[in-house]
Order: sequence, then C-alpha cells, then structure tokens
Amino acid sequence: MLIPCLACESRFVPDEYFRACSDYNRGLDLVSWTCPRCGNRDDLRVLPGELGFGYPYRGRFDVHDRVRVPGLRRKRGDLRLDISLDAGRWRVPTRIRQLV
Ligand SMILES: [Zn+2]
Repeated sequence: MLIPCLACESRFVPDEYFRACSDYNRGLDLVSWTCPRCGNRDDLRVLPGELGFGYPYRGRFDVHDRVRVPGLRRKRGDLRLDISLDAGRWRVPTRIRQLV
C-alpha cells in the first residue's frame, strides 16, 4: 500500500507518509501534511479507511478528493489524533498556540 502526494505524485509507504503529518486541528478535524519530497503542504482529514482532501470553506472543511487506505483507523483525542494502520501507530499532536 503506497499513498500518493497529490502535488508531485510521489508515493510513500504509510510510515513515511504519516510521519509527515503535523498539527492536528480538532475543530476542523484536519492534520497538516508536508510532502517529504516536494515540500507541498496539504490539509487532510484522516477517516476510517480513507484520507479526505479538500478545502476550508466558511469555517468547515469540505472533502473533495478521497484516497482509499484500507484498514486505516483514527481516534480523536483532546490534543492529538492517533492514527493506526495494520501494526503501525502514529500520533499527531495539536500545536499549542500560546498567548504570551
Ligand atoms: Zn509531493
């Protein structure tokens, strides 16, 4: 199972792909993803069995493209998203925005 970058069409094994996720946005239910190869930044929603790509619109996130990832699971936490696929586990933390 390889997961593509939608910008450069490089394909990644799940471990490489999910390690490139950062900053879980719980409000919009999104993670940021930065392509290790081309540096393209995408927002995506991790869903059971698939990844959803789209655009923020009026405070929501509308999924327009889906990439099927059979067996993909997610669990939402207060300040993180836990992703699992087969034996793999990845934790995407929420970046804390501090008001100083
Ligand atoms: Zn790329």
